[in-house]
Amino acid sequence: MKYISTRGQAPALNFEEVLLAGLASDGGLYVPEQLPSFSQDEIASWAGLPYHELAYKVIQPFVSDCISDADLKRMVDETYAGFKHQAVAPLVQLDANEWVLELFHGPTLAFKDFALQLLGRLMDHVLAKRGERLVIMGATSGDTGSAAIEGCRHSDHLDIFILHPYKRVSEVQRRQMTTVMADNVFNIALEGNFDDCQQMVKDSFADQGFLNGLKLGAVNSINWARIMAQIVYYFAAALAVGGPHRPVAFSVPTGNFGDIFAGYLAKQMGLPIAQLVVATNRNDILHRVISGNDMSRGELVHTLSPSMDIMVSSNFERLLFDVYDRDGAAVSDLMARFRNEAVQLDQTRWDKVRELFDSYAVDDETTCQVIRQVHDESGYLLDPHTAIGVKAARECNRDSSVPMITLATAHPVKFPDPVVKAGLESPQLPEPMADLFEREERYEVLSNDLSVVQQFMASHVHKA
Ligand SMILES: *Cc1c(COP(=O)(O)O)cnc(C)c1O
Repeated sequence: MKYISTRGQAPALNFEEVLLAGLASDGGLYVPEQLPSFSQDEIASWAGLPYHELAYKVIQPFVSDCISDADLKRMVDETYAGFKHQAVAPLVQLDANEWVLELFHGPTLAFKDFALQLLGRLMDHVLAKRGERLVIMGATSGDTGSAAIEGCRHSDHLDIFILHPYKRVSEVQRRQMTTVMADNVFNIALEGNFDDCQQMVKDSFADQGFLNGLKLGAVNSINWARIMAQIVYYFAAALAVGGPHRPVAFSVPTGNFGDIFAGYLAKQMGLPIAQLVVATNRNDILHRVISGNDMSRGELVHTLSPSMDIMVSSNFERLLFDVYDRDGAAVSDLMARFRNEAVQLDQTRWDKVRELFDSYAVDDETTCQVIRQVHDESGYLLDPHTAIGVKAARECNRDSSVPMITLATAHPVKFPDPVVKAGLESPQLPEPMADLFEREERYEVLSNDLSVVQQFMASHVHKA
């Protein structure tokens, strides 16, 4: 399968190249030239498969010209064997036709493990085959860093450097990163804020000379392989509630539009999805575009759902590429204007977006109320991101006879503040992490200076 850029100017790549590339050279994002699609009968025949076997079926067409079936099978098996629930992505029922899909049974208790546990293995496999090494560099305000570190810690051909703002991430999140004692894992606590961390990563990608010939790789959701891995759980959830013969609806707490975009792809690939709800917090650019055709940067607001605190949703460009009939020049033009000003989509394009998605934005106060309300109704404890999803699902639901499934993106223990604010008891760390606060930590505090960070990296990478 070939992958092409949303801006139409970069060379087409195969899966292996796309996996290692990250952003396209024209500034666009890679998408498959043509999506695989499955018939209703084929999807129906997957009912009851264990998660890893289903993952193999869904992912295989995307990678088959680069990775052998046996290798893919092995990597997918290993990936999901590391999850702590037999079902991998269990469904919990809240009401007659209302469900929560628990995506937090991986090593870092958040949904990013679904993709990053596989990504680390895929990258390592491809690098071994090519006899190359890659240096992963990323900035995190919390979740992505720990999931990326867990995904790469066993890789022989990767070094990973994660920058977090010194003293500005929660203790649980910091410890999830800094207690990983692997000799290819480097945590940098930067004396600056999250934006400084991101800027440093951007500048380093733009000029990689400091690595003396080694290349940087990306693990954020611009990496196509992350989106690909996330398509699987939409199929799993739909099959579990009677799909494909019965359509289902999904509500997805979203920041970068990565997770919900995977749902859109599942639908394009043949899964009957009646409704896709985009759920945001006060950082609501997606809600403003979908409901009012207003694509403009707002002020960044710090909320109780920090993993969705984002001004620009980078994966939305992948959707724009489709609604602009895959016209790379039109997308390129739109994104160039968006750098400097608020933009509107052409009316017919916006109509398509509204046909595909509903949206809703939820503030902090309501988030806490929903955590309380759902706990009162069913005894179930939601994390704040998931609470936003449940609220949006209830507000936007178009047909109560269709099962509505909200994606639970994190375990509530990761974000205790809103739980306590809701008047509930803070949950306990689950068994595998019970001793997190006793473990040894390792991280380097560095000044907010590009050359200091780059020198640290250059002196710590493992050479080929
Ligand atoms: C990353 C994250 C999100 C947002 O996911 P996107 O792919 O950016 O839409 C939502 N909830 C949690 C807990 C996350 O870690």
